[in-house]
Amino acid sequence: MISLELARYRSASQRARVFSESWIEANFDCPKCFGSLERTPNNTSAKDFVCSPCGYGFELKSKQGLFGNQVVDGAYQTMLASIRSDARPHLLLLSYTTDYQVRDVTAVPRQFLIEEIVIPRKPLGQHCRRAGWQGCNLNIGMLPLDGRIKFVSNFRNAPREIVSAAWKQAEFLDNYKAAKRSWIAVTMALVRQLNKRSFTLGELYELEGEARKAFPNNAHVKEKLRQQLQHLRDRGWLHFESKGNYRLSDATLRVTD
Ligand SMILES: [Zn+2]
Repeated sequence: MISLELARYRSASQRARVFSESWIEANFDCPKCFGSLERTPNNTSAKDFVCSPCGYGFELKSKQGLFGNQVVDGAYQTMLASIRSDARPHLLLLSYTTDYQVRDVTAVPRQFLIEEIVIPRKPLGQHCRRAGWQGCNLNIGMLPLDGRIKFVSNFRNAPREIVSAAWKQAEFLDNYKAAKRSWIAVTMALVRQLNKRSFTLGELYELEGEARKAFPNNAHVKEKLRQQLQHLRDRGWLHFESKGNYRLSDATLRVTD
């Protein structure tokens, strides 16, 4: 049925948009309240869909083939401004095959959209119609698992209760302002990188160089990392076992790829 409808559209980008929007409308339920999503009128905002029971907004990006670590986004300054004002919708990434089979659908909850993943592209050259315009990429590969929730993985739907639990487990981060979210999200990513159930402060400090790459202007990286562990403990993402020893909570361990 979809292919008949799609045949009416000449351009590949129109077909892709119609296909991916219809797919989300028919198959994707809000991970918070299980409401179905409705399309917003075109060009009214950055939101493509809204869940009317809970008011969540979603932006959809689709791509033929898999998304890599970097996702092409729109204007650089607009993205930074919307992150700083905490006004982002959640992001949905839908990847499909040449014959329009949905291969992967990943959600990036809005609280994981942090400045550190926004990579500026080169401004457009003088010969371009929009000379000087600067776009950006989102380096989603930098995010912890918690911020890349898989709804469809290699053509298979993830069980609803698993998706919903992962979503819930990540919600606490939405209560922090942009600058704090950045540090917490990067710390979560580093802890996930250790790939251990329990870890020591020393092990986390070995990844100090990675944190420096994300925050090149901060002179107190170790201190900041230790502070984030306290936030993560207060929110139940991990537990303090004894001085310098930490353990991920069971709910945190259940969030897997
Ligand atoms: Zn909802």
